[in-house]
Amino acid sequence: MKTIRDFAENFRNLNTGSGSTAKEVVWDNVTGTFVEVPAGTHIGSGDDVITSPDVKGFGSGEEPNPLPSKDRNWNWQEGGIFETDALKDKTAAIIGCGGLGSQVAEQLARNGIGRLVLVDFDVFKARNISRHVAGVSDLGRKKTDICEDIVRNINPYIEVEKYDVNICDHPQVLKEIVAKANIILACTDNNSSRFRVGSQLAESGKPGLFGRVLKRGQGIDCFLYRPGDACYGCLFGNNVIMEEEIRDAQAGLESGQIPAYASPEDIDILVQPGLPDDMLPLVYIMTKWAMLQIVDAEKYGLAGLKAAFGDTNYILFANRQEGQFQRWGTLAAPGTGPAIGRYYAMKITKNPDCMICMNDHENTE
Ligand SMILES: [Zn+2]
Repeated sequence: MKTIRDFAENFRNLNTGSGSTAKEVVWDNVTGTFVEVPAGTHIGSGDDVITSPDVKGFGSGEEPNPLPSKDRNWNWQEGGIFETDALKDKTAAIIGCGGLGSQVAEQLARNGIGRLVLVDFDVFKARNISRHVAGVSDLGRKKTDICEDIVRNINPYIEVEKYDVNICDHPQVLKEIVAKANIILACTDNNSSRFRVGSQLAESGKPGLFGRVLKRGQGIDCFLYRPGDACYGCLFGNNVIMEEEIRDAQAGLESGQIPAYASPEDIDILVQPGLPDDMLPLVYIMTKWAMLQIVDAEKYGLAGLKAAFGDTNYILFANRQEGQFQRWGTLAAPGTGPAIGRYYAMKITKNPDCMICMNDHENTE
């Protein structure tokens, strides 16, 4: 494994070449400052030495680039991390911190969200690595703790609240979570939890997004619940739902997507190379669509984007050129046939037989 010393040596060689008498800037852990030393000088011992190739302003009387203060953090031009304060006072709740939820959390943090509520009861396992933002060093940790570290590493001032619970077993906790968020992102991998979230959103009148990777990664779908509009239950009633990605061979066998008689070789073929990439369009659409629900689109120059999304509440992205995408229209793009790399949009209408919102309707009338 590379140590900090290896890194310092590499940088030194690149920076000065052998035999050079050039100076270099290094971080001295003993004094806690950047110091200028002759190339090749070792400060402290062993891994205490690290060079700092990207310190701005050193030697010109300026302080090395420090972390911004909180009041400057959402102003990139004043030395902050984020380009805009549009999401500074917003709260997003992410239900499920697995492959999808962790990437959505990271992207919302990079967009400058001020507060995240992270919900997951699971710990991180080896089979999660290929689709998750975390890696080997996080094995065995709670997924909520991992995601907190990741977003704090991007924004030291982000507020994080964690719930290590299964929302299906704790409806009252889900109600609290939904109440404190401006937007809820359902990033779980099963329908029972999605219906729980969908039902709570309808009851609470909060917007939310539901994302899935479709079977064998051939596409993704994302449903937006706008308060008063069609709910997640209505989406099922519209009969447009396609089968989602199978989590693993066991889940595939249980759901019937993999026949019980399939050999181990057959099961391997059912997973296509590139599945980690197939999730990325969903990460994008969930982050972007969430932002459009909670940001003042006019004030922050997103009016055109918001208009392009229109009253769409269901989006498919075709990762594959499958004929089944033909029935969807596209988002302000020319062409009639299905295509890869394109979003397909639909407006789902309320279902009079919806098991979620029509029950609410009856209860409140
Ligand atoms: Zn409904």
